[in-house]
Amino acid sequence: MHKLLPITTYGMDILRKKTKPLEDVDTNIIELIENMYNTMRHANGIGLAAPQVNLNLSLAIVDISVIEEYKNIKPVILVNPAIEESHGEMVFEEGCLSIPEVRAELTRPDKVFVKYNDLDMNEVKMEYDGLLSRVIQHEIDHLNGKLFVDYFSKEVKREYQKQLSDIKKGKIAPDYPLHIYSDDFHGF
Ligand code: ZN
Repeated sequence: MHKLLPITTYGMDILRKKTKPLEDVDTNIIELIENMYNTMRHANGIGLAAPQVNLNLSLAIVDISVIEEYKNIKPVILVNPAIEESHGEMVFEEGCLSIPEVRAELTRPDKVFVKYNDLDMNEVKMEYDGLLSRVIQHEIDHLNGKLFVDYFSKEVKREYQKQLSDIKKGKIAPDYPLHIYSDDFHGF
């Protein structure tokens, strides 16, 4: 039986730390990945990084297959990932399970070349574009202590100021699983 892990929220220190690399994927990590997956699906998310479950580890999962258009895309498990190269530009609306109810359009590179370890700790190099690239960039940011609100313009930041400070105060304490998301929104 897999557990639901509480999701950390905006304002918590763990979300601002650069994560430590994993040296090995043992049975504890496999169990953690399963629990993270369960937690992400329950919160209607399409990506989740270890700091979002209060762990300082360079580990994130992405699964966009819940969206009909991407139903054949396999989940990606990123161990110690890093973006090696990026190209192009894409505008896309983003949200984050750690920052409930805040979403805004962001510009990010479209195509990324990512290096990471698979579950056997072999080095993998992959190219991603579109939504998968977008979510992977968001998760790798989490592993570097960066949040999508950091990209906001002054105007957008002002627009969400109250909401962000409410989250910091625990006024939108998300007792996950979150049911406040509409079915058509997938945070990551
Ligand atoms: Zn996020």
